[in-house]
Amino acid sequence: MLVLGGGINGAVSAAALSSRGARVALIDRGDFAGETSQSSSNLAWGGIKYLETFELGLVRKLCRARNRLIRAYPSTVQEIRFFTAHQKGFRHGLFKLVFGALFYWLIGDFFTRGPRRLSLSAMEREEPIVRLDGCDGGFEYSDAFLHDNDARFVFGFIRAALDHGCAAANYVESLGARREGALWITRARDATSGRTFEIRSRAVVNACGPWADAHNVLLGEKTAHKHVFSKGIHIIVDRLTPHRRVLTFFADDGRLFFVIPMGPKTCIGTTDTRVSTPEVAVTAEDRRFVLENINKRLRLPRPLTEADIIAERCGVRPLVVAAEGTGQGKDWTQLSRKHVIEVDPQTAHLTIFGGKITDCLNVGEEVCAELSKLGIALPFAGRVWYGEPPAAVRDEYFHQARLMDLDALTSPRSSEKLSTRLWRRYGANALALLENIRADPAMGEILIEGAEYLRGEIEYAARREMVVKLSDFLRRRSKIELVVRREEVLAARGLREACAILFGPQAEEKLAEYAGAAGGAGADALQIRAKLRG
Ligand SMILES: Cc1cc2nc3c(=O)[nH]c(=O)nc-3n(C[C@H](O)[C@H](O)[C@H](O)COP(=O)(O)OP(=O)(O)OC[C@H]3O[C@@H](n4cnc5c(N)ncnc54)[C@H](O)[C@@H]3O)c2cc1C
Repeated sequence: MLVLGGGINGAVSAAALSSRGARVALIDRGDFAGETSQSSSNLAWGGIKYLETFELGLVRKLCRARNRLIRAYPSTVQEIRFFTAHQKGFRHGLFKLVFGALFYWLIGDFFTRGPRRLSLSAMEREEPIVRLDGCDGGFEYSDAFLHDNDARFVFGFIRAALDHGCAAANYVESLGARREGALWITRARDATSGRTFEIRSRAVVNACGPWADAHNVLLGEKTAHKHVFSKGIHIIVDRLTPHRRVLTFFADDGRLFFVIPMGPKTCIGTTDTRVSTPEVAVTAEDRRFVLENINKRLRLPRPLTEADIIAERCGVRPLVVAAEGTGQGKDWTQLSRKHVIEVDPQTAHLTIFGGKITDCLNVGEEVCAELSKLGIALPFAGRVWYGEPPAAVRDEYFHQARLMDLDALTSPRSSEKLSTRLWRRYGANALALLENIRADPAMGEILIEGAEYLRGEIEYAARREMVVKLSDFLRRRSKIELVVRREEVLAARGLREACAILFGPQAEEKLAEYAGAAGGAGADALQIRAKLRG
């Protein structure tokens, strides 16, 4: 089986298939999760807003998918409260929205804490940062969020696939494929060396996300569906509220708008703009929209400006429509977020259209089921291919962490114990990290200032996390680049040593490549590059 694309949909396909005994390869032309799957709102949610369009089936499915993720990844996918202010005169009254939240709870099998209505005085007391002018109250309900970030979550599936024998490679692009007898011959290009080569497979899973249609054209695969694109951005700023909850508003365009905790920072967004291509970037207008909306709705010591932005995220939602449709007739923001897997049984070709990170376990299951129907043997068809390690492994890890007093190494800046963080990030592999720290206490030292990353973690990333470029590590295996300003990352003591660990003799080259990409042509970039040369 060849899986094309290492975003969430490709990653779960590879993890499910390889864990169930198939022989699998996965390639991505960039880094794993280097596109849409690094730009989400980091939420695993049942889609409360789709109640408005009466997509009850979709909400039920997403709620159950969310519940399954919370159960399977208790330290990574965690319940969080959504604190919502209601403006008088909004298109739905407060009573109706509270009722909607109750219904949402019911449709989600009462799995989370129940919703509650909030009086203005309770809101003022609990979240004084929220501006209540023009509000008549609010409510709170539960969904879940990805504690680290989406890209790290995706890499967990890539790592699981590798552990089950999958051959996964980032920076390898599919240039197209042809059929020869019962086989697909895919022409691939290694983006680092420029070398091209062929990959033979019985089936192809097209998980190219927003680029899936373009790849199908290369193969001459006709499908009943296609994508249209909705661009969304987020900005990251210093933490706005000390409470771990999502603040929810209705933006000026009527869409839900979130203030989401992101480690020591706050992530704000998102937008929903129809675009015609998946290649997008944050524009001045996007920034203005987000800043204006947030400044209107929060009581801040001073309004947020562009200077407060630490990092930005931007991507397109691949939305499924019928191949001959355009999605034009419908209200744009109300196009469905469901996924569709289309199979061509003649050629053993699957395309995954649309979807959400929340629904990823279903996508993995469905890909296995569809390929089994095509006669591809999955020797361990009943195997559970996802989830954190069993309780016994967890207990052993925390026991060992206690014995060696690991939490004494927790950075004073961190709001969470080191043992908890390592378990969440590395699961059973955290045991090997403990062993390394015992053998060499230098492995327990924080290497990149301000980023709370241990030398041992970077050494682990170098061995097991397929880091090709520095941004793979700073942006996707970790979230350093999202929570520390780029100029601070580049100036951090320890970055050079981190590069030496990650890239060996290529360290300087990779650092310079990153500085070039990070800084563009501005004066800051020139200074940074001069500093690196110095
Ligand atoms: C702003 C925004 C907010 C969102 N918020 C949420 C949320 O909170 N919760 C949620 O569940 N979902 C959310 N989503 C939806 C979710 O992020 C996407 O549905 C999901 O990430 C899509 O994953 P994918 O694997 O299909 O695509 P991608 O992640 O884009 O992966 C496709 C991969 O294919 C690769 N590729 C393309 N062409 C080739 C080729 N020729 N050869 C090899 N590789 C190729 C690309 O490099 C890319 O890595 C959000 C999306 C956006 C944009």
